[in-house]
Amino acid sequence: MTDRTDGASDADDIILEVHDLTKVFGSGASAVRAVDGVDLTVRRGEILLIMGPSGSGKTTLLTMIGGLLRPTAGTVRLNGRDITSMKESELPQVRRHLVGFIFQTFNLLEALSTAENVEVALNLAGISGRQARQKAEAILSNLGLSKRLGFKPRDLSGGEKQRISIARALANDPQLILADEPTANLDSKHGHDVVVLLRDIAKKQDRTVLIVSHDDRIREAADRVLWLEDGRFKDIGKLVRDPVCGMAVEAAGAVSHTYSGRTYYFCSEGCRREFLEAPAKFTGEAPAAPAPQPGVRSALRRFFGDKLR
Ligand code: ADP
Ligand code: MG
Repeated sequence: MTDRTDGASDADDIILEVHDLTKVFGSGASAVRAVDGVDLTVRRGEILLIMGPSGSGKTTLLTMIGGLLRPTAGTVRLNGRDITSMKESELPQVRRHLVGFIFQTFNLLEALSTAENVEVALNLAGISGRQARQKAEAILSNLGLSKRLGFKPRDLSGGEKQRISIARALANDPQLILADEPTANLDSKHGHDVVVLLRDIAKKQDRTVLIVSHDDRIREAADRVLWLEDGRFKDIGKLVRDPVCGMAVEAAGAVSHTYSGRTYYFCSEGCRREFLEAPAKFTGEAPAAPAPQPGVRSALRRFFGDKLR
């Protein structure tokens, strides 16, 4: 993307620029800094995954980016326009045309059919009647839902509901799709289908897709992964994987051991001990040995906590 030959400037490549974005809920002693001075630049066509534990500020960040929530401080530039300085009356235009939202809980209108759920989004953007119906049907058919147009959400599977909400997000041809935990209410097959679909949307339709999730399976589809914790991005380069239990751990300050010239980091002393009992089992250095089994101690530790150390 940096080696451009079409003469367009780098700035044209950027769909989203977030600077020093902060959201504080409450005040005084009970104030929560849900998002704490975040900087972020996203290029067109990119599929970006922001991961982080529950409560780390993912939803708060995403809703500010989409103009659904006003920040306490900082700026969000969408397509070159600062939406944080816009009047309340200007924001619906941005939400309808520039961004499409996909929610964990689908947020479909239960009383409406599949087609009508998508038509509503078109109606809000000023497209009505036959034109809206035809466009809704075309988008839904494209997502494999042509046989479900008249169904109500209650008669559909979770995977189908999420595809309808993706169709609704696409209805007004937005350049940026924002997805909040899009696979959280789906089984692993349907979750995988949704991930493939979001990747297709980014790559074939040249849209930018920003997903926030703690679902590790989405990693495979993302061009870039960022890690949010306590409202701030952490350098993912400094996060390493515990070879025993597979958990991501921060290298600085973690229990470590150097083996065969390489340093391994562990989430706990227990994992390090398990590693020391049979290092080759975890370093992939003994191809002839049976495939490494997940450590029994680490599995037990997940149940009993650190008492097992
Ligand atoms: P995530 O989506 O990563 O789980 P959230 O953005 O929902 O995290 O929440 C981040 C933090 O902000 C949490 O501590 C949460 O309790 C707090 N928070 C979120 N929304 C509100 C709100 N409307 N009022 C008060 N606190 C909130
Ligand atoms: Mg959330």
